[in-house]
Order: sequence, then C-alpha cells, then structure tokens
Amino acid sequence: MTRADRRRRYLAAMGVRVWRLREEPVGIDAQPAEGLPDDAAPAPPVIEPVSGTPISAPSLHPGPAIAEPIGPPGPAAVETMGWEDLRPAVAACQACSLWQARTQTVFGVGDRQADLMIIGEAPGADEDRQGEPFVGRAGQLLNLMLAAIGLGRDQVYIANILKCRPPGNRDPLPEETLRCQRFLLRQIALIRPRVLLSVGRISAQTLLRTDTAISRLRGRWYEFGPGKTPLMVTYHPAYLLRSPEQKGRAWQDLVEVARRLRQANAHGLVAN
Ligand code: URA
Repeated sequence: MTRADRRRRYLAAMGVRVWRLREEPVGIDAQPAEGLPDDAAPAPPVIEPVSGTPISAPSLHPGPAIAEPIGPPGPAAVETMGWEDLRPAVAACQACSLWQARTQTVFGVGDRQADLMIIGEAPGADEDRQGEPFVGRAGQLLNLMLAAIGLGRDQVYIANILKCRPPGNRDPLPEETLRCQRFLLRQIALIRPRVLLSVGRISAQTLLRTDTAISRLRGRWYEFGPGKTPLMVTYHPAYLLRSPEQKGRAWQDLVEVARRLRQANAHGLVAN
C-alpha cells in the first residue's frame, strides 16, 4: 500500500471524503507520510464533513482554566516528582476506592517530549488488562485520527483523567477525579506539550471545570493551567464509533490541532 493509500484509509476512517483530479495527483498525495501536513496543504484538497455546519475558525480564548489541585490525600511530593518516582507513585496509589478492583494502573504512554498530549477519560477493560491507555476499539480509532494528521501514536503522549478503571466503565466520580488529578497535572508539567487535546465530555469538563455540553466545548481553543497551554476539545473516539456522523467535526478539530502545532513549531514556542 502506498503512503497516499494509507493516508486515504485513515481519512476514510475519519469519515472524510477526499476528491482527486484524475490526471493530477494533488493535495493528499503530495503530503509527507511523516510529520504534520505543511502549511501549504493543511488538509486534503476537498473535505466533506459528513454532516453539520462548518465551525468558524476557532481562536485562542481564555477558558475556565483548571484549578490548582485542592490538596487531595495521596503522596505528598507528587508536584515535584520526576518520571522515575511518578510512575511507582501511581502504581501504589490507594487515594480512592478504585484501586480495589483494578488489575493495574494505567499511567500513560508515548513520547515524554511530545508536542501533543492527548487526555482521555479513564481506562476501560482492555486498558485495565494491558496497562496502557487507548488500546481497545476506541484506541484504534484514536490511532487513525492521529495518523490522519500525520502523527504516530509514539509521537504523542496519551494519558487519562483517571489512572484506574471505574467499575463497569461508569463515569468517574468527582472525588476520584479530584484525588487523581495531581498525577495528570504532574505529567503535563513534565511533558510541557505545545498543545493539549482533550477527548470526550469527561476529559473536557474535568479539565475546564465546567458542565457545559461537549457539543459546545469542542472545536474551540482554551488556555490550560499556569502555562496557558493551548487546549482543544474534541469528541471521544468511543463516541465517534457510536456516532460516525460526527467524525467530520472531529476531523475539523484535528486539522485545527495540526495547524496550531505547525504554528508553535514555526515560532519555536514552548508552552508552560
Ligand atoms: N477511553 C479513555 O478515555 N481512555 C482509555 O484509555 C480508553 C478508553
């Protein structure tokens, strides 16, 4: 399979139709397989979102930034830990009752110097079993979504709001997110990503401290934390599996993330 074929497959999985002139291979075929699409060709030549009105170009505006951790019980020095201490601290955590049913904690995976950090909700059954975030069906779609903007899973960092699986995949409880958030905040502080991508309602509402509907939160830029890291919200891949008609919107969000990453790299910006 050629690079262009592979890329077309990713876009098809995202519900994005790509039109090409018969004679002239343009756009998508001209894109490099690795790295982000360049400025001249941020997206395939014609993008047809499956449905919905196009969002207007989002601009960075201050969202309700995540509050500082409110001193939940747990290891005292998380806020100053390095990676070598953080992982075992997560593995040993019993700050909420979720530890009782977990197979293992799910710390996070990927490049610790990544420009892009993705934040999901919580481990599911597959993740609990394998100890890695986004390894089930939703994870496979997430991989395709990343590939559609030219990023491999190993080029980003992926973590969740919660490090342990809530029983029966129920929504995290406020107390669980509160007690777990210091680990995620430390991961963000250590990675210092240029862009954060929050996937799904729970992730977005937790990070932005709001109960606004995901449909209103997505597709917009927020500033996160003291470093004012640009944060984009999009739909959770598990939701996209259930509602494929929303993939076009998620694709728009990803194109915007790719644009922002290019911009940050062009200016040599480092968040935080
Ligand atoms: N959904 C999430 O939000 N995170 C995972 O790790 C897996 C599924």
